[in-house]
Amino acid sequence: RNPVPSDIEVAQAAEIKPISAIAEALGLLPEEIEFYGPTKAKVKLEVLDRLKDVPDGKYVDVTAITPTPLGEGKTTTTVGLSQALGAHLGKSVITCIRQPSQGPTFGIKGGAAGGGYSQVIPMEDFNLHLTGDIHAITAANNLLAAAIDVRMLHESTQTDEQLFDRLCPKDKQGKRHFSINMYPRLKKLGIDKTDPEELTEEERGRFARLDIDPNSITWRRGIDTSDRMLRSITIGEGPKEKGNSRKTGFDITVASEVMAILALTTSLQDMRERFGRIVIGVSRNGEPVTADDLGAAGAMTVLMKDAIKPTLMQTLEGTPVFVHAGPFANIAHGNSSILADLIGLKLADYVVTESGFGADMGMEKFFDIKCRYSGRIPNVVVLVATVRALKMHGGGPAVVAGKPLDKEYTEENLELLRAGIENMLHHIKTARKFGIPVVVAVNQFFTDTEAELELVRKAAVEEGGAEAAVVCKHWELGGEGAIDLAKAVVEAAEKPSHFQFLYDLNLSIKEKIEIIAREVYGADGVDYLPEAEARIEDYTRLGFDKLPICMAKTHLSLSHDPSLKGVPKGYRIPIRDIRASVGAGFIYPLLGAMSTMPGLPTRPAFYDVDIDMETGRVVGLF
Ligand code: ADP
Ligand code: MG
Repeated sequence: RNPVPSDIEVAQAAEIKPISAIAEALGLLPEEIEFYGPTKAKVKLEVLDRLKDVPDGKYVDVTAITPTPLGEGKTTTTVGLSQALGAHLGKSVITCIRQPSQGPTFGIKGGAAGGGYSQVIPMEDFNLHLTGDIHAITAANNLLAAAIDVRMLHESTQTDEQLFDRLCPKDKQGKRHFSINMYPRLKKLGIDKTDPEELTEEERGRFARLDIDPNSITWRRGIDTSDRMLRSITIGEGPKEKGNSRKTGFDITVASEVMAILALTTSLQDMRERFGRIVIGVSRNGEPVTADDLGAAGAMTVLMKDAIKPTLMQTLEGTPVFVHAGPFANIAHGNSSILADLIGLKLADYVVTESGFGADMGMEKFFDIKCRYSGRIPNVVVLVATVRALKMHGGGPAVVAGKPLDKEYTEENLELLRAGIENMLHHIKTARKFGIPVVVAVNQFFTDTEAELELVRKAAVEEGGAEAAVVCKHWELGGEGAIDLAKAVVEAAEKPSHFQFLYDLNLSIKEKIEIIAREVYGADGVDYLPEAEARIEDYTRLGFDKLPICMAKTHLSLSHDPSLKGVPKGYRIPIRDIRASVGAGFIYPLLGAMSTMPGLPTRPAFYDVDIDMETGRVVGLF
């Protein structure tokens, strides 16, 4: 199949099965699926009730070494391995991956449907709107943002009595009522009354006035476009909002807490409760203000009621795929949804899921955040390595998207490779700290030589202690090219594991951050800017310190500095700021210069994307 056509050409040439056939083969009942056209369907959560007594299948997490900006083929390997298991070894398998954000799709990286002959199809749908989940997240996020600012505006011009009168107006019969979404706040305030008229004047005031401290607000607006001009903005500049303007900004939707909640929730009820618990800031007397205080969490849940259902798609070889949630792994927790995995584990003998970026990013968060909330532990970690990235870590020239690779990468160079292998060994060690068997997948590129591939393979097993290391060609050959990898995974999945979390939740926020920094990143220690110190004190006082940690760090280095390759030594991690995602359930430290809104390059990927008017097909997605 040499040369392999472009990803979109391969995907568009594929024969695609009706999604009803994929669902039927999985044993899903017709009433458990909702079709979104012929190739996509959502799966209802009721299936979990029906299958609650079925034992779980084996759980495989695909991670990687520290990547180049081009990506080293985790999704491609996740899909290739699944195709090998399902279409070649006759196992039942479900692939669980994230829905890509339009930021990278139109920015530098392109889509995230895999590549070559290991892809999810139709890739145009997968890479863009799919079934609208990300749009729903944007809507829910921004509803809460609007609720915050309009509440502060109204509170600035009204007395307690006026506020109360407008929150609970008299109906035609002269009766006042609480709305359904007011009860959580009443409960929090200890007001056990259902008739607003029964509230004392003091209770009315306490109920009606949130008194949000504008400087404490951490909730930002969201949009799923890499639009750096929105990183910092001033709102409320219209003549009627004058006096209420304030500085805020946008995060890319996939970094939002609503996205994290979708990925970490376990039921509709749980999602409603998590939305309610979201802390947007504190009141002027230091009490946390939640989405339930603002009365917005119910409507947010309604906006998200379809997004909570995983979307069923297929690979090029007709094996099933769940696409669900899409947090980035650098500025968010980087894993697809717990719900898709839970359903997958009931429906199939093998669930293959991908955690984003390197093992220091998505995999650490997979274990310490996702597995804590799901209660599921994987049987095998597959660590993807490429000769290209290892050479870069060994001192090769920078790998830049859109530029041809230097000769160091296209010709044999065992010296650079040997030096860079340290990065892989570090990541294998990290994965093994969690007590799970590691299988290294050496994702072969055309330019790799036999000697190079063998060097990586041998080092992974002999020096790294990986259970197995397999060279694979699923990009070029599809599932057939990953049969040996699949066999190694099946074998490793039978091995006993001795899983342990990296840190105890009862440690302090700083102790937890320190453990991740030293043990996973190899840093000497951690330094905190004053803003971060202040927030840690606040969060500890408010009792949010028992949450796991979700580090926002560059994915391009084990350290916080993207230019430090290999295994950086002798450095300290700077923590610039910290947010608490109380609804999602983690503390979110921002390292160094990390931004929660990416930018676009001078020549973004969208330059290539268009419709071919003759065929009506999308061109230029990759
Ligand atoms: P990740 O999930 O690790 O970010 P992807 O699987 O999305 O990486 O792959 C990134 C890009 O690299 C895709 O465009 C894919 O087609 C390409 N790619 C992956 N593996 C290979 C390979 N073995 N040979 C050539 N290109 C590859
Ligand atoms: Mg990927």
